[in-house]
Amino acid sequence: MANKEKKSDWFVEELHDNYKLMVSVSSLIYQSKTNYQNVKIFQNESLGKVLVLDEVIQLTEADEVNYHEMMVHVPLFSVNIPKKILIIGGADGGILREVLKHPVDTVTLVDIDGEVINICKKYLPSISKNSFNDSRVKVIIEDGVNFISKSSEKFNVIIVDSTDPFGPGEVLFSNDFYNKISNSLAAEGIAIFQGGVPFLQEKQFKKMNNNLKEAFSLHGFYFVTVPTYSGGSMAIGWGSNYLDLNDLDNSIIENKIIKSSLDLKYYNLSMHTSSFGISENLRKITQRKK
Ligand code: SAM
Repeated sequence: MANKEKKSDWFVEELHDNYKLMVSVSSLIYQSKTNYQNVKIFQNESLGKVLVLDEVIQLTEADEVNYHEMMVHVPLFSVNIPKKILIIGGADGGILREVLKHPVDTVTLVDIDGEVINICKKYLPSISKNSFNDSRVKVIIEDGVNFISKSSEKFNVIIVDSTDPFGPGEVLFSNDFYNKISNSLAAEGIAIFQGGVPFLQEKQFKKMNNNLKEAFSLHGFYFVTVPTYSGGSMAIGWGSNYLDLNDLDNSIIENKIIKSSLDLKYYNLSMHTSSFGISENLRKITQRKK
């Protein structure tokens, strides 16, 4: 009890209406305001280091693998030959770290905020694990919408690791952005979008479903549990003009996983296949015309 009373510093996340998340701060590691957002990194005794942007938790050392492994390995084990990869957002380097476990040729990471990349490299090295120094990686500091509007390159996998739909990340949830991502996919390519927690962010889930439906021939969702994205499972949206992630041959995926012998903590074949189960209320939303 005495120990509990000592924890007088609490970070309070107020991302959702009528619902708050409180995480104790055992020490503040870093705090600043960049040109785009407020950045805070603090230590929590149970969760390790916690990264917060604009008062919203982006990751904790304890459960970041759940999110990063599922955002990356589901598409990379599903496409035929994942050679050219684009990450939009992802300044912490967690998505990059997981992508580089595959024999890819190039990874382009486009984040609007170069300061967050440098801050994470310095204060959260456990996330990127030196990935930014890999010779396959090209980092571009630019708004993701501007980049994709100008780019004529085609990518096998595009992963949108954005903040929530306000502040600098808002544009990454627009219909126009989804159409441009679709046009930037190679013929058999697949795009992945972080979709929030539908139990508390149903409106965002509906909008993402509509965006995906309009921009891609095939689309859907899979789900991951990330305990510090509170409120239930998190949805990950996918879109493709060729591949149906709901209808892949699991034995092919299993063979690829075994052959790769990657060092993973969360992702495996059972997580891959079970993540495509969808609750009846969300399935109905995905079936609606609009
Ligand atoms: N995994 C965490 C999550 O899902 O919340 C972390 C996401 S990552 C830290 C989010 C990144 O998106 C930030 O680094 C932010 O700078 C970047 N971002 C926000 N708006 C952007 C935009 N318009 N273009 C490119 N990157 C953007």
